[in-house]
Amino acid sequence: MDCIFCKIIEGSIPSTKVFENERVLAFKDIQPAAPVHILIIPKKHIPTMNDVKDEDADLIAELFAAARQIAKEQGIADAGYRLINNVNSDGGQVVYHLHIHLLGGQKLSTLLAN
Ligand code: AMP
Ligand code: ZN
Repeated sequence: MDCIFCKIIEGSIPSTKVFENERVLAFKDIQPAAPVHILIIPKKHIPTMNDVKDEDADLIAELFAAARQIAKEQGIADAGYRLINNVNSDGGQVVYHLHIHLLGGQKLSTLLAN
């Protein structure tokens, strides 16, 4: 499959991993928009939030559980952080494999990430 995040999951494209279990992977964004900028993805290829099915509910919950754990490990949980999911063209989605941006490490000044 021609998906850059699937290639990161299988290891054919390198990444700096910060969290991994059987269903979820998190790695540093290659173009960080904040001191902490991590992408949290399901290992299952789901293109966008629009493609999430009811049976994916546990998986989506796991993405947020990973976000909570990573924010704590990165030392930004108390100061605060932002979770963003871009959907399709108007949402600014560039990579069509579901991902949550975890941004923090500074005061995020606007509502938007980039
Ligand atoms: P989005 O615009 O929500 O689709 O975000 C895609 C994100 O993936 C951008 O912030 C990119 O910087 C990031 N990205 C693209 N390629 C890579 C890569 N090989 N490793 C890490 N992050 C990447
Ligand atoms: Zn994929």
